[in-house]
Amino acid sequence: RCHIKSFLKRNWLLIATIVSVVLGIGLGVVVREHASLSQLDKQYFGFPGEVLMRMLKLVILPLIISSMITGVAALDSEVSGKIGLRAVLYYFTTTIIAVVLGILLVTTIRPGVSQDADHIDRAGTTPNVTTVDTLLDLVRNMFPENLVQACFQQYKSQRKELPPPKVPTESTTFPSLTTIMATVAQNLTQVDYKVVGGYSDGMNVLGVIVFCVAFGLVIGKMGERGRILLEFFDALNEATMKLVQIIMCYMPIGIMFLIAAKIIEVENWDIFRKMGLYMVTVLSGLAIHSIVFLPLIYFVIVRKNPYTFALGMAQALVTALMIASSSATLPITFRCAEENNRIDKRITRFVLPVGATINMDGTALYEAVAAIFIAQLNDMALDVGQIVTISITATVASIGAAGVPNAGLVTMVIVLTAVGLPASDVTLIVAVDWLIDRFRTMINVLGDAFGAGIVEKLSRRELERMDVTSDVDVANPF
Ligand code: ASP
Repeated sequence: RCHIKSFLKRNWLLIATIVSVVLGIGLGVVVREHASLSQLDKQYFGFPGEVLMRMLKLVILPLIISSMITGVAALDSEVSGKIGLRAVLYYFTTTIIAVVLGILLVTTIRPGVSQDADHIDRAGTTPNVTTVDTLLDLVRNMFPENLVQACFQQYKSQRKELPPPKVPTESTTFPSLTTIMATVAQNLTQVDYKVVGGYSDGMNVLGVIVFCVAFGLVIGKMGERGRILLEFFDALNEATMKLVQIIMCYMPIGIMFLIAAKIIEVENWDIFRKMGLYMVTVLSGLAIHSIVFLPLIYFVIVRKNPYTFALGMAQALVTALMIASSSATLPITFRCAEENNRIDKRITRFVLPVGATINMDGTALYEAVAAIFIAQLNDMALDVGQIVTISITATVASIGAAGVPNAGLVTMVIVLTAVGLPASDVTLIVAVDWLIDRFRTMINVLGDAFGAGIVEKLSRRELERMDVTSDVDVANPF
């Protein structure tokens, strides 16, 4: 009895959240069946969920700024360099594993072969993005011109507008170089970007992160005078985490209405039957990656039970599944990693915000599967070169996707155009994306968490050395 009591006491929020998911699904189904809500009614119905999303997004900015600056400043630059390198190595390896797994599954199951693209309903409009511009904008975003603006700016490509192309009128048998370039230029001027390069709901996350890393490094080197700033940002972090704790109490209610409103809103359920095999391919890929590969890597390096670790992240995983945004889940990811899994704050503060922005295993796997699925629908046989192109662009597309709902769908265009598939074919997979998005976001968050655990283990020696040589309290490094 005592065991059950203490279990309930420790996990009441997780239990309440899971119950609210079930209640929300039930509520959604009942309202859908028995009430005919107008568009406005539906909006009102989703309101409590909207409020939850707003609260979570609200704390992202102070959380990222305070955690990145204190995270970096608490380490010396050599150590933070090493930790950063380990994190990037982990991100890269696991993303590639996810892409390869996706390619293996989709070429074995072949969900698009027995299907015809004409039989699938298309939905939505085509976003327009190119690989080069995504990469350039990614770098531009790292160095925002104005820090304050970067905190609330909506994303807009900063590529300089090209002059209107002059298309030569004389007809030649072979298109001349100028004609080709003019066509390319014409395509480029039509590029319309939405969610590329770490932009998260009106905030240039990547730009803010780069600034905070640089600022943190400088503060760390300033000695006594830097300490004032370090303490300020540390207090800011503590206060923000307290806010997160309050927001978490509202979560069960918000989540219940969020999921119920979604169920009421979705119109085309039939599409899930038509796209069944495609969904099975993506979801089984995500399952294998998160149940086999990520835990295996964690176990080999950390030598602890990866499933206990994953269970510690449960609250963050359910949140990601419900809100489909790694950025908005970040506050909960922090809490689970630090409170339940006891990962050193010097690591989480440094590694988690970066992970939520660039490390997306689930998205990478999905990009590869979806691109090949679309090729199969078009009866297009892919050669080895094209498969390699898909793996590279899927990786780039996952790094470039922001941690917001459906971002992966937008950057998907990069993968399609790179192998000569029509960009407009993303509309084939839009209708089921709201569901797949949730699952891939959950895997993205799990990947970030395992990453923090692994980097902590690999950096044990440096962290211990710092504990001995500095005057910082070991139990509470800040
Ligand atoms: N929604 C995903 C995330 O926030 C990104 C994606 O669309 O794949 O991690």
